[in-house]
Amino acid sequence: MSNTLIDATHDPALRSWVASANEADTDFPIQNLPFGRFKRRKADEPFRIGVAIGDQVLDLKLAAAQCPWPTEVSRLLEPLAGGDLNAFMDLGPAARRTLRAALSQALAEGSEQGPFLELCLVPQAEVELAVPCRIGDYTDFYTGIHHATTVGKLFRPDNPLLPNYKWVPIGYHGRGSSIVPSGTPFRRPLGQMKGPDDAAPVHGPCRRLDWELELGAFVGGGNALGEPIGIQRAEDHLFGLVLLNDWSARDVQAWEYQPLGPFLSKSFASTISPWIVTAEALAPFRVPFERPAGDPQPLPYLDSEANRASGGLDLVLEVWLQTAAMREAGLPHQKLMASNFRDSYWTLAQLITHHASNGCNLSSGDLLGSGTQSGPEAGQGGSLLELTSGGKQPLILANGETRSFLQDGDSVRLRAYGQRDGVRRIGFGDCEGTVLPSPAADR
Ligand code: CA
Repeated sequence: MSNTLIDATHDPALRSWVASANEADTDFPIQNLPFGRFKRRKADEPFRIGVAIGDQVLDLKLAAAQCPWPTEVSRLLEPLAGGDLNAFMDLGPAARRTLRAALSQALAEGSEQGPFLELCLVPQAEVELAVPCRIGDYTDFYTGIHHATTVGKLFRPDNPLLPNYKWVPIGYHGRGSSIVPSGTPFRRPLGQMKGPDDAAPVHGPCRRLDWELELGAFVGGGNALGEPIGIQRAEDHLFGLVLLNDWSARDVQAWEYQPLGPFLSKSFASTISPWIVTAEALAPFRVPFERPAGDPQPLPYLDSEANRASGGLDLVLEVWLQTAAMREAGLPHQKLMASNFRDSYWTLAQLITHHASNGCNLSSGDLLGSGTQSGPEAGQGGSLLELTSGGKQPLILANGETRSFLQDGDSVRLRAYGQRDGVRRIGFGDCEGTVLPSPAADR
């Protein structure tokens, strides 16, 4: 693969002295090295920054203090040892690559730093994970053209894809405060709803609760207000990716979304996976970005040779469901669908460039949602809305239960991984959330 971003840290033969990192099915081999924010579950301590390796977390506060490092690496570890991932995100890709190379060497089999770092490991089973950084502004895009078309048909049968879709990376400004880490249950929201044949709307618990399968891109290093980010430099501002479940109240959304877009149908909770998989770790999974024949090419400010050559990402995305009855019967989550981020209509570089193209200033810790990633085939819908044709064709689960929309007690787990010949498989870890009953409706 002719990719200048591939280096020794991606060598598929590289093994770690952390034995669990060498298991074939781990999400966190030594080629991944994602960042997260954790605390020991039993300890009364502030959250600190760590790197996932196999089934362990490398505690960077301890690692900075207890292991010998070259001066440059010690300096990069400083903000991380202080628990501030945003300050490290500010440093940009060169700093990230330097630290990645140092951590890769230190965690590799035969490393002289191994005996020091062994004392800096905490089992993942013993930690609590927070959102990985201070999340600034949150923008949700709409890059899944198969999702946009199918959903468009449900909301507007004669006009599914609006005329701007193939020209503008569509997005809206969302709410950062209600983003929670994987494993956080959330309450079914109350909202205002009106069915097509109802005389007046009602307020009460959402009846059409849904998930949305998305990736979230964290910005690393911002731009000054008024200074756009050219597409050639866009990826310098991409820190890494997480999974994002943009839980959606479809009945609230259908009534409230015109003319200004989604509002309370989205901001009651959004779940992210706690480990940020860096842009560097994703390098082996880059693929060409192509437009289908007959579709308009992106305008020049959204186009570059590099973006065409390798702007896409070959990442498998999956949704798994476990109902309360399944949990009680000891049944695991059941896989409902899979799609691939390479089918996205816009690349991450295009999202960053478009977002800043009016001079809007992005900052480290800003989160850009990809929009729901549905595949081109039937059964590849990235939401229940699509998989059940708007609730008209319920899914039949393996245990005989049916689902049109989510019920209380349902647990939805998103998964993502990169897997290609000649490359070590890496994964994102879990992005899981469980629906709790709604609060009592007010009157
Ligand atoms: Ca969304």
